[in-house]
Amino acid sequence: MDHPDERPLDFTDVVTNLMTVGIVVVDRRFNVVMWNKFMELNSNVRAEDILGKNLFDAFPELNRNWLEKKIKSCIVLKTASHSSWQQRPYLFRFKASTMMAQENEFMYQDASIFPVKEYSGLVEGACIAIHDVTELAEAKRLLDLSLDQAIDLEESSQRDALTGIYNRRYFDEQITQEILIARRHNRPLALAMIDVDHFKIVNDTHGHSAGDQVLKALAGKLNGMLRGYDSLCRYGGEEFGLILPQISLEHAGGLLERLRKAVASMELQTPDGAKIAVTISVGVAPLRDGMTPGSMVKVADDLLFQSKREGRDRVSCMGV
Ligand code: GH3
Ligand code: MG
Ligand code: MG
Repeated sequence: MDHPDERPLDFTDVVTNLMTVGIVVVDRRFNVVMWNKFMELNSNVRAEDILGKNLFDAFPELNRNWLEKKIKSCIVLKTASHSSWQQRPYLFRFKASTMMAQENEFMYQDASIFPVKEYSGLVEGACIAIHDVTELAEAKRLLDLSLDQAIDLEESSQRDALTGIYNRRYFDEQITQEILIARRHNRPLALAMIDVDHFKIVNDTHGHSAGDQVLKALAGKLNGMLRGYDSLCRYGGEEFGLILPQISLEHAGGLLERLRKAVASMELQTPDGAKIAVTISVGVAPLRDGMTPGSMVKVADDLLFQSKREGRDRVSCMGV
């Protein structure tokens, strides 16, 4: 009995009815000789309306220069080539069919272009196989997005919201790291603790929000005068920690003296026209044998309080 299911499958029929991969075959003059179901469904162009017609006339959106060259080299060199959605999002501009894609989004496509031979072995034309990779592209987009968000989150978790400089958490991690690096490479390291003088008076006189503006301006000023690998951190309130790798105590003292002078000559104007000037007191400690992050902060802090005791607006260095 000649039951339809028992008949051997015709390969051309299989390819023509394929719904998951787009198959287009063109001859040497780019006239379409095969247009399968996938292509019909996605382009809304029926096979009977395109067979025998020039592919580029029917689809002006195709990158003609590029695709012609690909097809020609495929026929001449008898080699297949591949086009990835990552370099070229699509060949045919089809609407995305996946639920994951957003409205009006196009279908991302990978494409393979390979020579189609006659039985004699002569190359007759080229076959373009189109793979819908929209779900893959969309998943990659979401992954990239969450990576970006993770990086942003990591970055913002290191920053102080008011001043934008590093926060206390970053300071604690960084001083530990820098001590390890300095010891490993036998390089100097200095730590400065900086505190704004009589800041309570600034707040009491001009208000808390003016005080905030002073802290912002101060942080900006200091940060602008540092080297790339220095880390200025808001240690807490109106106190800052400044980590200075690869610098001798003498040069660190000189740098802090320049910072102190720059702050003293800064003047901030409040919205109601009042002028605010502040000074800073500083303690600078070098990394010495046996010091821990905690003891280095303690030495710098003690020196800072020495500056306060001696009249403020000054820099005290260990052993100087
Ligand atoms: P000293 O010279 O001894 O350091 O005097 P001081 O007034 O700066 O010291 P004190 O520690 O008594 O006061 C610090 C003030 O800094 C009190 C606090 O309200 C203010 N302050 C801390 N953080 C902030 C902030 O984020 N914004 C504002 N506006 N003020 C702050
Ligand atoms: Mg203070
Ligand atoms: Mg303080």
